[in-house]
Order: sequence, then structure tokens, then C-alpha cells
Amino acid sequence: MSFEAVLARARSEGRTLLNEVEAKDLLREAGVPVTMTTLATSPDEAVKQADAAGYPVVLKVVSPDISHKSDAGGVKLNLKDPGEVRAAYAAIIENCSKHVPGARITGVAVQFMAPQGTEVIVGMTTDAQFGPVMMFGLGGIMVEVLKDVSFRLVPLEEKDATQMLSEIKGKAILDGVRGQPAADLAALKHAILKVSDFVQAHPEVQELDLNPMFAYADGAIAVDARIVLSES
Ligand code: ADP
Ligand code: MG
Repeated sequence: MSFEAVLARARSEGRTLLNEVEAKDLLREAGVPVTMTTLATSPDEAVKQADAAGYPVVLKVVSPDISHKSDAGGVKLNLKDPGEVRAAYAAIIENCSKHVPGARITGVAVQFMAPQGTEVIVGMTTDAQFGPVMMFGLGGIMVEVLKDVSFRLVPLEEKDATQMLSEIKGKAILDGVRGQPAADLAALKHAILKVSDFVQAHPEVQELDLNPMFAYADGAIAVDARIVLSES
């Protein structure tokens, strides 16, 4: 679906939060590497999609009322066969209905389980004064506890993306520590610039998060994506 079509659907449903499948479809189209993710609305559909994606797979709740999916018991990783997919589907629905009573559940997102990489976050927030601002940081506690992030105003040039990667205090982690290979900085730079282009082209996008993106020795891929639109 085009950006305009996704926007129109969200508006007509009174939503500003795009779901993971919508966000990833738009970002993939924009050249940002994200895991191929499909929406299942029954356990049978989830199994069919898992067969197509290739095991192991990940299942996640898709709900306009749940934005932190793991907190609601809405993420099941490393599912190795159809039996595990069916069990995970049921568990996700049960957990999420318990955790967020009355939550509307659109379905369950199915995607392949990406190999573990260095977790990074690529994001955009809209500053009241400066407009869209890109953010880059290392994932997990590095961002949440240490606030180790770098920022640049949109639009970014290549040198801005290069600087964002080298400015964080945890830079050594990207360069590879304790036998870990260095992260593919060119792939990260590419992803940052593509996100910058995407948000510049679509001023309706108010917030965007790839959290996390996995960086590898060769390549990078976002396994979670979140897009918030401005109020119409
Ligand atoms: P949320 O942030 O809403 O809780 P995520 O989609 O980020 O949910 O999933 C939680 C965690 O599960 C991620 O931080 C990541 O470590 C892991 N994860 C999610 N999707 C995948 C995937 N496709 N492959 C591998 N790991 C994943
Ligand atoms: Mg996440």
C-alpha cells in the first residue's frame, strides 16, 4: 500500500499509531531494511505465513491499544514449528487481553527470527521548535539508562550520518569489542539516511522508531518499527 493509502486508512479509523506491519511495509518501500512481516488473523493463517517465512519465527500482537508489545506478553520469539506457532498465537491473545482489558486486537504479526546482532536504535522525533530530529543510539540499557544517543536535524547529509555513528560514547561497541566483529557502519549510515529521506518526504510522520535494529558484520535489519502520525 502507498503512504497515502495507509495514511487514509489510519485517519478513517481515528488512529495516529501505525501498526508494525504497516510501518514496516512503508519503510521497506522507502529502502530501509526491515524484517518481512505479515498480519495473521487466525492460528491457521499464522502457520501458513510462518511456513512461508521459514522457521524459526516470531509472533507479535498487533493492537492499536498496545504499543509496548513485550510488556503485555505480546511477543513470542524463536518458534520452531507449527505447533509452537499455534500455542504462541493463543498465548499472545490471552496475555494481551489480560494485560490490557478491552484491548482491540487486530491480529498477530508473523516474521522470521533474525539472528542476534548488535542492537541499535534509529529514531525520529518532532521538536516543537526545530521540527524533525533524527536520533541514533545503541539499544537496550545504553539508551534507556545511559541516554547515550546522538541527534541531527532532518534533512541529513551523508556526513551527518557518519558523525552520528561516531559521536556516541559507546562507539567502541560498534567497532567490535571482546572478539565481537565490527558492525557494518555503511549499512547503518544507509538506514539512517533512508529514514531521514522518508520523514522529510512525509511531514505527517511525527515519530518513528526502529527499536531495535540489529547490526551485523555485514548488513543491518530492523526487527521492530513504530510510526506515529501527527493529529490530522
Ligand atoms: P516491543 O518493543 O513492542 O516490546 P519488539 O518488536 O521490539 O517489541 O520485540 C521485543 C524484542 O524481541 C526485541 O527487542 C528483539 O530483541 C526481539 N525481537 C523482536 N522481533 C524479532 C525478530 N524478528 N527477530 C529476532 N528478535 C526479535
Ligand atoms: Mg521494540
